Amino acid sequence: MAKRDYYEVLGVPKGASKDDIKKAYRKLAVKYHPDRNPEDSKAEELFKEASEAYEVLSDDKKRQAYDQFGFAGVEGMGGGGGGGSQDFSSGFRDFEDIFGDFGDIFGSFFGGGGGGGGRRGSSRTSAQRGADLRYNLEIPFKDAVFGTKVEISYERHVTCPGCGGNGAETGSGRKVCPTCGGSGQVRRSSGFFSIASPCPTCNGEGYIIENPCDMCKGNGVISKPQKLKVTIPPGIESGKRINIPGQGDAGPNGGPSGDLYVYVRVQPHDYFERHGNDIYCVIPITFTQAALGAEIMVPTLEGKKVKVKVPSSTQNGKVLRLKNEGVPHLHNSNRRGDLYIKIRVEVPKKLSARGKELLKELSELEGENKSPDPVPLAELSM
Ligand SMILES: [Zn+2]
Ligand SMILES: [Zn+2]
Repeated sequence: MAKRDYYEVLGVPKGASKDDIKKAYRKLAVKYHPDRNPEDSKAEELFKEASEAYEVLSDDKKRQAYDQFGFAGVEGMGGGGGGGSQDFSSGFRDFEDIFGDFGDIFGSFFGGGGGGGGRRGSSRTSAQRGADLRYNLEIPFKDAVFGTKVEISYERHVTCPGCGGNGAETGSGRKVCPTCGGSGQVRRSSGFFSIASPCPTCNGEGYIIENPCDMCKGNGVISKPQKLKVTIPPGIESGKRINIPGQGDAGPNGGPSGDLYVYVRVQPHDYFERHGNDIYCVIPITFTQAALGAEIMVPTLEGKKVKVKVPSSTQNGKVLRLKNEGVPHLHNSNRRGDLYIKIRVEVPKKLSARGKELLKELSELEGENKSPDPVPLAELSM
């Protein structure tokens, strides 16, 4: 759609006074305001168009630039430019800024009752989004590593089956509010404008329920236990959240459901410790294995055992790495971290007579260190 001339949009002549421009815009703004034309994209378009035209023509500098250079003159000045690209909420802001001096009067068109924030469409429709729910889920270490499916049970609000969500007993239905005639607002005159406030009879809903539904007491929703299978992706960590859209509370009056947030806590493992995608564990070997070198079988996350070669003269605290035996990356489970094995050299607690004999022989052969030099403390934490 080609952009229409701003004067044409407001329906005023080129030389129109500021006052005439303001009046023309006020008329259009009231007529096409989205609160009065819910779900009407044509009206929304016209409302935005008028707001944009007004923003330029009400500002002396912008108007002059526009008169001289057309749309190009006001591009990047906060008006004109990206026609249509502006989102709706920013259109609102402009509107409120411009009419700051009429604050409360125009405020009433934005959903009535003021109170700022989230005003869009709140006056006519009582269908609100349901609440988001939180579920705390604890899973075993291994399930966090490889992923799993968990069935959870929780309570959520669902649309009341007794009334289908409208809150009225069957056959009675809703009645248009006699006080406000369904608008949800009552108005009183104040000079040029009428000031609206939420209707006290129906609390701004626009209708009243004659016989509230017995099952939900007129709320339109009831609490119901629900079971749900949740897919836990491989590699998830404690504190991560899984969002399940639409599985929160159903909205009152047929509004959309909120989301379910599953917060994951991972139980610790008996001997594996996770750091990012890497896994650490401590493996004890005998001091003869450490001295001579050995092949040992160590457990991996999968539960199988793999062969690991311990080199000769391995010192206590030495760390060996098994590549790709760690945790799958959360967003790419083809990639995995590593498994780190920290060697703990154990001295035999009990020796046989023959063992003692052999060690004594070894000691005589290799000699004893009668006056060892201290090493830095840092080596303790190796
Ligand atoms: Zn009901
Ligand atoms: Zn009412």
